[in-house]
Amino acid sequence: MILPTTSVGSFPKPEYLTEARSRFSKGEMSKEELHGLERKATEEWIRFQDEIGMDVLVDGEMYRGDMVTYFAENLHGFQISGLVRSYGNRYYRKPVAVAEIQRVNPVTVEWFKYVQSLTRKPVKGMLTGPYTIMDWSFNEYYSSRRDFCLRLAELIHQEAIDLQNAGAQYIQIDEPAISVRPDELDLAIEAMEIVTKDLTAKTITHICYGNFPQIYPKMLELSVNQIDLEMCNSSYELMSLFRRHPFTKEIGLGVIDVHNHKIETKEDVRLRIKKALTVLPLEKVYISPDCGLKTRTIEESHGKLRVMVDAVKELREELALISH
Ligand SMILES: [Zn+2]
Repeated sequence: MILPTTSVGSFPKPEYLTEARSRFSKGEMSKEELHGLERKATEEWIRFQDEIGMDVLVDGEMYRGDMVTYFAENLHGFQISGLVRSYGNRYYRKPVAVAEIQRVNPVTVEWFKYVQSLTRKPVKGMLTGPYTIMDWSFNEYYSSRRDFCLRLAELIHQEAIDLQNAGAQYIQIDEPAISVRPDELDLAIEAMEIVTKDLTAKTITHICYGNFPQIYPKMLELSVNQIDLEMCNSSYELMSLFRRHPFTKEIGLGVIDVHNHKIETKEDVRLRIKKALTVLPLEKVYISPDCGLKTRTIEESHGKLRVMVDAVKELREELALISH
C-alpha cells in the first residue's frame, strides 16, 4: 500500500486522566487505580485510530508526563529535580544523573504488549533517544556528555531489542533535541548507531522543527530506516534542501500543523502531499502529523487525524487511476 498513515507519538489526555494524575501526585489515588485509567484512555485512542483506518498506530503516551522524565524515572541512577523551564514555556522535572545509569527492568515493553493486543494493526514501539535524554538532563556523574550519551545508547538499545522480541515491527527513537544542537550532531549519530545495531524492525526517528539547513544532509547519516519530520511548521521550506541533496531514506512526512487549532481541509493535506511528491519518491513516503498532538484538544486531534487519513484514501485512488 502506498502512503501509509501514522502518528508521531503523543495524543491529548482525556480530562478524567489529567484529574487522576493530579490526584495521584497528591497521594489521593492509588497507582493501580491510575494505571487502570491510563489503560482505558489508551484503549480509547487505539479504537479511534482503528475506526478511522490509520495504518501504523501509536499508544498516545497516556502513561507519560514528559518524554525524557518518563525514561529517567524508570532507569536507575537518575534523580528528578523540581520544575525547570526549557524551550519557551515548557516546564518539566529535569532528571539528574547521579550514578551509573542502569536499566533494571524493561521500561516500555509491558505497555507495548498491552497496546498491541488491542489491535491487528502494527503499533510502534516508542522510545526517547539517548542524545535527547542526555541533553535534557543534568549530569553530575559522567565525565563528559559523550560518556553519558553513549551509556544511555546502550540501555535504549537493550530496550529496543526487547521491544522487537515482544513483536514490535516499528521502533521509533525520538530525538527532538538534535535540530537545536547542530554542533553535536556527530554524537547523536554515534549514539543512534548503538541503539539500532542488529535491529530488524523498521526504525524511525522523529526530529522536531529546528535548524534543518544546518543539520541537512548530515542528518541522513542517522542509522534509521525512516526520519519523520515537521514540515508544515516551515511551510515546506525543506523541499528546496531536498532538491539540492536528495533525501535518501524513508520519510515520515508531516502534513498536519500541530500548533494551529484550525483543522485542515482534505484539500490542504492533498496539496501538501502532492508538493512533496514532486521531490520525494512515492514508495518512500509515510504520512503523519508534524509532531505529537498532545497540546491540541481531543476534538481537534480527532478532526485533524480523520482529515489526514481521509485525504490519503482519496489520493491513493487518484494515483491508482493515473498509473493505469
Ligand atoms: Zn516534534
